[in-house]
Amino acid sequence: MLNGILSTSTGNGGLFSKQSILLLFFGTLLGYVVLPIIVVHTNSLISLGSIESKISSNGGDDQIRNLSNADLSGVMMRLIENKNLLATQSMPTHRSPTIMETVVLSDHRRKKILVTGGAGFVGSHLVDKLMMEGHEVTVVDNFFTGQKKNVAHWMHHPNFSLVVHDVTEPLTVEVDEIYHLACPASPPHYQFNPVKTIKTSTMGTLNMLGLAKRVKAKVLLTSTSEIYGDPQVHPQSETYWGNVNPIGPRSCYDEGKRVAETMMYSYRDQSEVNVRVARIFNTFGPRMHPNDGRVVSNFIIQALQEKPLTVYGEGDQTRSFQYVDDLVNGLHALMNGKYDGPVNLGNPDEFTMKEFAEYVKKITKSESQIRFLEKTQDDPSKRKPNISKAKEKLDWEPKVTVEEGLKKTIEYFAKVLEEAGEIIPTGPGASKPQN
Ligand code: NAD
Ligand code: UDP
Ligand code: UDP
Repeated sequence: MLNGILSTSTGNGGLFSKQSILLLFFGTLLGYVVLPIIVVHTNSLISLGSIESKISSNGGDDQIRNLSNADLSGVMMRLIENKNLLATQSMPTHRSPTIMETVVLSDHRRKKILVTGGAGFVGSHLVDKLMMEGHEVTVVDNFFTGQKKNVAHWMHHPNFSLVVHDVTEPLTVEVDEIYHLACPASPPHYQFNPVKTIKTSTMGTLNMLGLAKRVKAKVLLTSTSEIYGDPQVHPQSETYWGNVNPIGPRSCYDEGKRVAETMMYSYRDQSEVNVRVARIFNTFGPRMHPNDGRVVSNFIIQALQEKPLTVYGEGDQTRSFQYVDDLVNGLHALMNGKYDGPVNLGNPDEFTMKEFAEYVKKITKSESQIRFLEKTQDDPSKRKPNISKAKEKLDWEPKVTVEEGLKKTIEYFAKVLEEAGEIIPTGPGASKPQN
């Protein structure tokens, strides 16, 4: 029969020789049977275990021949089941120990989504949500402040791809949506190499907009409350233009994001790119980098180790803290809604840093002292979002209280400390993340 097909298809003088057809046959066998078996081998150890023990207890090769058809079909069933599992579940790791089952979407519903900065703190939580919805997610990250382990649990999922790439370089992919997060976010990290920070916000955003224009993708920028600078209006609403020092230590980040916003709206108006801009207020949660030097991670790490909590200045400056799950839901609602103006995403629950230090001490039941250090330059004196726009346009508001969020984050950092031993929190000066 095979020869019959051969003779018709090679009738013109041997386009396919018998040897090449045999090669094709064995290649197909290798691709569709042997390789999948190798891929699922790890997951199949348990099911194969009983058969292996049968072989070894009887000793020798010829025992393999004694496996009954029932044994073999059992193995095959397990392999197929495991393969299906791999197509719908994440692989647990010791940092993300929960298996996450993903929805299987039909081709016309499954979107191709690019998340730049997807290996970072916020990005990795966003990736979890998009993956669980069943979309195809490509993470682009240069691992400056992000870590591979934040997305390691998705590494074997067929809907997930990781590209190590710097967004300041052009990127060619085909996608439907772009969540553009790539940019260091904590002051010590974005001040470590200010020129690079400004390149990331400007050239990086330009490249993502050029990409969005070419492939007609929707693009969302994670801007920041820092665009309001040291605000003279309180709380801050989207109509406020801000008060930013253009040449201070924070300006590489603040002005970078302001230019990025300008580019978003220029591409919308000039080239009809479908844009979304989120102005994110201070966000915290698991997977914050232990050395990112932000106030939430610093205070928790200090309190858990009974080290002094370091307050910069007199601690009268205020911040309002939102839990990461709320932010991710807000980003998702913004991307999927119709509104294309800038939207504040934050939790209006406002603390002075002195109050916040006491609060973290209370929740961690820590005996730590509070130590006052020198004030940092251009540190905004107050910050609190007006979120009426998000409520009105996205039907969004934060659901997780600061206390609930802190408890989850404390639990996370307690585990990190258990693994890492002592952690010396990052101080106020410019520094590189310690891996
Ligand atoms: P993060 O530092 O954990 O994540 C940023 C990610 O971007 C990291 O994975 C990093 O490696 C990657 N990255 C940096 N420069 C890059 C480059 N040139 N090319 C490719 N990848 C690059 O920070 P985060 O808290 O997750 O912040 C994510 C986004 O949200 C940032 O755009 C930040 O400005 C914005 N934001 C965050 C907060 C907050 O409180 N977390 C507040 C306001 C705005
Ligand atoms: N770009 C990219 N990927 C694409 C398309 C464009 O990275 O798929 C980059 C491109 O290299 C350029 C930027 O996006 O630096 C802006 O592109 P645009 O087409 O808007 O401007 P132009 O190339 O005409 O300057
Ligand atoms: N801060 C502090 N101690 C720390 C880290 C930060 O008192 O160990 C202060 C910092 O000066 C700022 C506030 O906490 O007033 C929030 O700092 P963070 O770096 O978390 O974010 P941002 O300044 O970007 O809002």
